[in-house]
Amino acid sequence: DVRVRFAPSPTGTLHVGGARTALFNFLQAKNAGGKFILRIEDTDEARSSRESEESMLADLRWLGLEWDEGPDKGGEVGPYRQSERGEIYKEMADKLVEAGWAYPCFCTEEELIAKREQAENKNEAPQYDGTWRDADPAEVKAKMEEGVPYTYRFKVPKGKRIVIQDLVRGQVAWDAEATVGDFILLRSTGVPVYNFCVAVDDAQMGITHVVRAEEHLTNSLRQCLILDALEFPRPQYAHCSLILGEDRSKLSKRHGATSVGQFRQQGFLPSAMKNYLSLLGWNDGTEKEIFTEEELHEAFDLRRVVKSSAVFDMTKLKWMNGQHLRALAVEELVPMVGSTLVEAGVCKDAGGPFVMSAATLVQGSLELVTDAISQTQDMLGYKFDETISSEESTELVGDGFSEVVAAIVADFDAGEMPKPGAEDFSPAFKKWIKAKGKALTRKGKRLFHPIRLALTGSMSGPDIGEQLKLLELASEEGVENVSLA
Ligand code: GLU
Repeated sequence: DVRVRFAPSPTGTLHVGGARTALFNFLQAKNAGGKFILRIEDTDEARSSRESEESMLADLRWLGLEWDEGPDKGGEVGPYRQSERGEIYKEMADKLVEAGWAYPCFCTEEELIAKREQAENKNEAPQYDGTWRDADPAEVKAKMEEGVPYTYRFKVPKGKRIVIQDLVRGQVAWDAEATVGDFILLRSTGVPVYNFCVAVDDAQMGITHVVRAEEHLTNSLRQCLILDALEFPRPQYAHCSLILGEDRSKLSKRHGATSVGQFRQQGFLPSAMKNYLSLLGWNDGTEKEIFTEEELHEAFDLRRVVKSSAVFDMTKLKWMNGQHLRALAVEELVPMVGSTLVEAGVCKDAGGPFVMSAATLVQGSLELVTDAISQTQDMLGYKFDETISSEESTELVGDGFSEVVAAIVADFDAGEMPKPGAEDFSPAFKKWIKAKGKALTRKGKRLFHPIRLALTGSMSGPDIGEQLKLLELASEEGVENVSLA
């Protein structure tokens, strides 16, 4: 059974790159009917914090990337925080030492620095030279008895080639000995190093696929060496390419919003965010771009993740958000628009008829929910306008504007103009427009454009009758900034 994990280091907030990694793992689990595990990699005590962990969990939940096992949920292979797994690492380290895969190294920090400098001067790779690898057991024993501090180093096998079939990058191979020196597994304080913890955890948690960022590719060599030594099966790897900014440099704060929390605050929908992130390096083999969550679960396939880096395009994300807003049922949109409008001080009742009407009218043109503020305000600014100059009106709607205005004024004065507050307003208004068309012998644009311009003072916007109704509802609810004819 597929078991995947997202393994953030809680040293900040969840960023776009991490969110994409989490999403690919999540989708892989969903697609295969497997489990999605959340593991907190908090061995770096100085940089890790609980606040950071909590904010990451909250952001993942906002995105809808719920995990099956994790620090707050438990599970059979926990604990799910590396800081709580000391015993497990200790046991595995002992196993490696006993089997001869690790040896104590008594080199001091100064000695190691000197070795590195020497290597650099000779233009050699600054790898540990194996001073204690084949040390005389008696000497080792003596040092230990003296109480000299030591680390445990992994005995990188000579002449071993490590080959992985990366699901994204294809075959990747390393000559182990030439690539890494005998690396530290346990520090002199007994604290295990990062790659050791990851290898142990992935094995012990039964992880089948490791999906992570490309920058971790070089860690795979060390992790495979450790897994092989412990005789644990290796997971399959998928190293995803970087996400770039529009200038093609690695996406960073310089490019604007990059943390999931910022997008949440800006009013993006989690479904749109997920849809957009899914396409950063993946496609379903067609041109399809808009996916519902279920469609993503169904279609996602790690083998279709591409090797080239993806460019984060804010304009596209906004467009996609608009598409997801349009796909919402109006009952889902109303509370969002309502709280946005109330927060912006446009109206007071977040769920009243005014908000209902405004939400319906703006749904087709929103990119962000917050766009509802200006779009509603624009509609509230509509007014009957007969003062437009004839040159301007001719330019906007062609001939005959004053004739149409005169007809409207006449009907208004005679009480023949349908009232937006009336129950049958919409059909009545349609009928009225039709009758005007007959009387004035105009139709299509020649009819609607001058009527729109006269009644709203603007050439754009949703259905004229619906706008008039919105204005009526606004005045009923005491929404300010309304100018009705
Ligand atoms: N803790 C690592 C990070 O936050 C993840 C490493 C991994 O996925 O193996 O970048």
